[in-house]
Amino acid sequence: MKEYINKAEKYILKTYNRYQIVLEKGEGVYLYDMEGKKYLDFAAGIAVFALGYGNQEYNDALKAQIDQILHTSNLYYNKPAIEAAEKIVNASGMKKVFFTNSGTEAIEGALKVARKYAYNKDNSKEYEIIAMNHSFHGRSQGALSVTGNSHYQEGFVPKDCVAVFADFNDLDDVKSKITDKTCGIICEVVQGEGGIYPADPEFLKGLRALCDEHDILLIFDEVQCGMGRCGSLFAHDLYGVKPDVMALAKALGCGVPVGAFVVGEKADGALVPGDHGTTYGGNPFATAAVSKVFDLYEKLGIVDHVNEVGAYLSEKLDELATKYDCIKAHRGIGLMHGLEFDQPVAAIIQKALEKGLIIISAGANIIRFVPPLVIEKEHVDEMTQILDSILKEL
Ligand SMILES: *Cc1c(COP(=O)(O)O)cnc(C)c1O
Repeated sequence: MKEYINKAEKYILKTYNRYQIVLEKGEGVYLYDMEGKKYLDFAAGIAVFALGYGNQEYNDALKAQIDQILHTSNLYYNKPAIEAAEKIVNASGMKKVFFTNSGTEAIEGALKVARKYAYNKDNSKEYEIIAMNHSFHGRSQGALSVTGNSHYQEGFVPKDCVAVFADFNDLDDVKSKITDKTCGIICEVVQGEGGIYPADPEFLKGLRALCDEHDILLIFDEVQCGMGRCGSLFAHDLYGVKPDVMALAKALGCGVPVGAFVVGEKADGALVPGDHGTTYGGNPFATAAVSKVFDLYEKLGIVDHVNEVGAYLSEKLDELATKYDCIKAHRGIGLMHGLEFDQPVAAIIQKALEKGLIIISAGANIIRFVPPLVIEKEHVDEMTQILDSILKEL
């Protein structure tokens, strides 16, 4: 492995401090490095690999699509994209889908929809977006402009492009930031990178009412919390609050790079031919994955499974939080959880890796648990035992 890691440092731009392993193979909810060491995976490639590794039906669908056709461009129709869009529309009750290659691009598209919706009504103004402190929406300049974390923004977003920020779960703060220039409000339904903070029901309901009152668009970023992770296919369904635009990615393709923004009734029609495009977005390979993911979610009863195992994980994390004083809080929903410590968690994560457990952080002091959605209770037990043994030593 060392040889490959040295080569990586030589050839790959260093924008990450990576863990010192080279992953080579996956099987179910386990990963293997080049030297054959086995890891229980509680990160799922950052909330991506919902179906676990090596689902045969998923793999076969992708192989068949490779032999059929990989790419067509968006100048023509292709069957997998149409089928995948139909499934997303039917599952969400929203109107139309635009496929992207990543979560960041889904956010870019969503922001353009909000600006265009306002521009179509009155093109004499420069519009602004209200976003939340401690949010994360991606690394492109547009997505960064609404990411409420100076650590990510600094040096990259011109000051006058930065969104207006309000405190998450503070409706009065959002209200006080609305002006005649506001064209939309964007937030995660459960903040992920910011430390696993679920939205309060009253907050989301309030945002919906504000957006209706001012005729502006409500954008939900479900890139991380969507696709079943929170115990309903889309996290906002738990709240009974519908957005005008929803961004999806991560588990949408379960490993194939694909995202989407989905528009509801109000936002449908804001963009017209020529307003937006992408060469790869919605290509047959990526959308064949999306289509198969929806089929398998249904066939395997993923959402019900998340509720069952999620409740168990929650119980076990509560037990750890009670047992150890260094754990300040446990937050989470479905299979998206966080343990907040009174100290940086990097050493715990490194120790876990050595003991064959992959976990990740969300901010310096928080361990994030976003396992494949197919994990079983026995895997939760295995994870808890490893973590318990590490905390004991600490
Ligand atoms: C990961 C993430 C993004 C960005 O998605 P990429 O595919 O990395 O571009 C956007 N929003 C949220 C909430 C995310 O977790």
